[in-house]
Amino acid sequence: MNNNLPGGNNAGQKAPPSRMILVFFLALGAIAFFYMRSHNAALVALSYSDFLALLSDDAKKPAEVTIVDDKKITWRTGAPATAYETLIPYGDPGLLPALEAHGIRVSGAEKQVGFFDVVLEFLPWLIVCFFIMTIFRNMQANVPGGRGFNFGKSRARLYEGKGKKVAFADVAGQVDAKAELEEVVAFLKDPDKFTKMGARIPKGVLLVGMPGTGKTLMARAVAGEANVDYFHISGSDFVEMFVGVGASRVRDLFEQGRKHSPCIIFIDELDAVGRTRGAGYGGGHDEREQTLNQMLVEMDGFDSKDGVIILAATNRPDVLDPALLRPGRFDRQVVVAMPDINEREAILKLHSKKVKTAVEIDLFRIARATPGMSGADIANLVNEAALLAARKDKASVDMADFEEARDKILMGVARSSLAISDKERRMTAVHEAGHALLHYFLPNADPLHKVTIIPHGRALGMAISLPEQDSFSRTRGWIEDRISICYGGWLAEKLIYDETTTGTKNDLEQATEMARNMVCEWGMAEDIGPITFGQEEEPIFLGKEIARHKDYSEETARRIDEAIKRILDQARARAETILDANRLMLERLAAALLERETLIDAEVRRLLGLPARDDVGVIAAPAML
Ligand code: ADP
Ligand code: MG
Ligand code: ZN
Repeated sequence: MNNNLPGGNNAGQKAPPSRMILVFFLALGAIAFFYMRSHNAALVALSYSDFLALLSDDAKKPAEVTIVDDKKITWRTGAPATAYETLIPYGDPGLLPALEAHGIRVSGAEKQVGFFDVVLEFLPWLIVCFFIMTIFRNMQANVPGGRGFNFGKSRARLYEGKGKKVAFADVAGQVDAKAELEEVVAFLKDPDKFTKMGARIPKGVLLVGMPGTGKTLMARAVAGEANVDYFHISGSDFVEMFVGVGASRVRDLFEQGRKHSPCIIFIDELDAVGRTRGAGYGGGHDEREQTLNQMLVEMDGFDSKDGVIILAATNRPDVLDPALLRPGRFDRQVVVAMPDINEREAILKLHSKKVKTAVEIDLFRIARATPGMSGADIANLVNEAALLAARKDKASVDMADFEEARDKILMGVARSSLAISDKERRMTAVHEAGHALLHYFLPNADPLHKVTIIPHGRALGMAISLPEQDSFSRTRGWIEDRISICYGGWLAEKLIYDETTTGTKNDLEQATEMARNMVCEWGMAEDIGPITFGQEEEPIFLGKEIARHKDYSEETARRIDEAIKRILDQARARAETILDANRLMLERLAAALLERETLIDAEVRRLLGLPARDDVGVIAAPAML
């Protein structure tokens, strides 16, 4: 149950059930208490026989009695007066004449129905009602949409024009994307200017980019710059287990958008709803399709004159339904690219403002040592570095903290406490030395950055390389060398111990995958030629598993397999030659690893007598150098 979480749209509107139960039992206790009290009034009960006997006793007999409902006789006598009561066991026809004979005044009365009698009568029903209500409330609380069966209400969060704003200044780099979005901002600021001119403003803008490149941030910045309301909803919020909910949420979202115009509707992770229709299993008319259809309909029935602009973000534009990308819908795409070295520096500058950094911090050096990191990775890097510095009670975050944080992000958290047997350690050292050594002898390989036998995550050791420059595509030579390096661990184990471990599984998988892609996707196998095979299909309901669609003959399949095997064999042979020829270096490197656990490029070079080099990956040179 989550109904006492803050921020939910049902928070604070009703008491949590535990408190309600308490109140309920308190009320119950109070009722019982008053009930007991009302029945405790000093009443002397007399049997019917005693009562009849009393009649003959002139001193004690009552002057007046009240007969209640033919069931009970009550009276008061004596001073101070005592109340008596006698139950009449059966309809005694002689009673009234007897009372008259003794000169007793008789009056009748109806049973007094007190408030508590009523309550007691209804108590069982109250309990039943209470439980039904509780169950009902819980059901509603657990149902997305909250109270009152508002399934169909969109779950968009509205960020009013006020509140904390994000500006373009909060997005570092991304010059091109910002320039394109400026137009949207200009329109939202003054729609009349554009409509008077008869210009057609795009209804929908799709932000396309890898995860963590700042798409969400950018959308918020557009709203902040234009100073308009901003609805944020994630594509997955539309997808519910109840059929029809998604569609009505879409309807509600656009309705709200119109009410708040001018505003921005931002649909994050659009691919969750926007996947190609008819591709899913279970028939062509599932819930997701209805939602998507509704979205298309709403976008059509919408005019940018209304002052509402729809932004969406996705990292899978390839799976989107083509209908979404047609003119009048998301007809404009803005690419939010991975940051290059200068942009990384800018992002670092922006985020390191929030932490206390040492004076000697060199952001460009950090940017250079973090190729392939997204904006989100860098934000995370700065935060990790600050955490490390704080843990060490430092006055400010220095370069060594950044180095440690980067390695942590790159390799995962070190598990120094993992108990490893001596034999395992020695074999890991040989394995990693095998990978590491190859980096120095293969012409197209990225330079080694660090090699370690400290376990990280599920790996017992690691040889990490970093490209010298940002690279956006890879050459055939690079991939072949990469495959050779993958074999380095397996070969070194075999060379030194004449047996191999299960630790090679991942290396072999990687090598095979790369070789397969070379043949089937990148047209890098000479005997096959520049053709692609097997269209990749991602089953929509089967997670990320990729099913390769076989669109070639058995004969071609055989040739593909042969080509893959040839690539792997050649790469392995190359690696084997290098390791065989440099067995002494391999052993020396493995021994050094056993002793020192982690070696950086410069240390390996010194150890092996290789010329020194500028290690791009070094943020802070360790003291031992
Ligand atoms: P996406 O939506 O593309 O996955 P986000 O917008 O959620 O990425 O970005 C996550 C975080 O990364 C942001 O909150 C921000 O702190 C940081 N970030 C990403 N790109 C940038 C950038 N260009 N400038 C500044 N910060 C960035
Ligand atoms: Mg996002
Ligand atoms: Zn390995």
